[in-house]
Amino acid sequence: MKSKRPRSHDRILGLLNTQPQALSAQEIFIELRQRNQSLGLATIYRALDALKLAGLLQVRTQANGEALYSSAHQDRHHLTCLQCGDSIALDRCPIHDLEQQLQHTHQFKIYYHTLEFFGLCDQCAIAEPNLKPKIDPNPLHPS
Ligand SMILES: [Zn+2]
Ligand SMILES: [Zn+2]
Repeated sequence: MKSKRPRSHDRILGLLNTQPQALSAQEIFIELRQRNQSLGLATIYRALDALKLAGLLQVRTQANGEALYSSAHQDRHHLTCLQCGDSIALDRCPIHDLEQQLQHTHQFKIYYHTLEFFGLCDQCAIAEPNLKPKIDPNPLHPS
């Protein structure tokens, strides 16, 4: 028999389901405290790990290496500026069909996917025509 979901999991999922944007563990800690639903940081990290493996939330790693968590139901992609850090959300998922196809051909239960684009926004490109990106553009393998 499956055990009941811990209260910490319910609180974190409840919070993420009402947030339009992804939150870091630190931000989740602060938000829960403001809602009088305080959890310790260690508890939050443990819960985030368990929820990730259950396919209930997704993790997105920023250019600075910080992990952001959001509900697994959200399928949103961003163009992120390496200079100012601005993120522009795309209005639709460009690889939705690919996910369906991979699930079928590989018999793999896909919980979620990530897809991000990095570069310079219009403002930054104008301000610094010769600027080279300073941040490692591959956040999955921070050095
Ligand atoms: Zn920019
Ligand atoms: Zn997508």
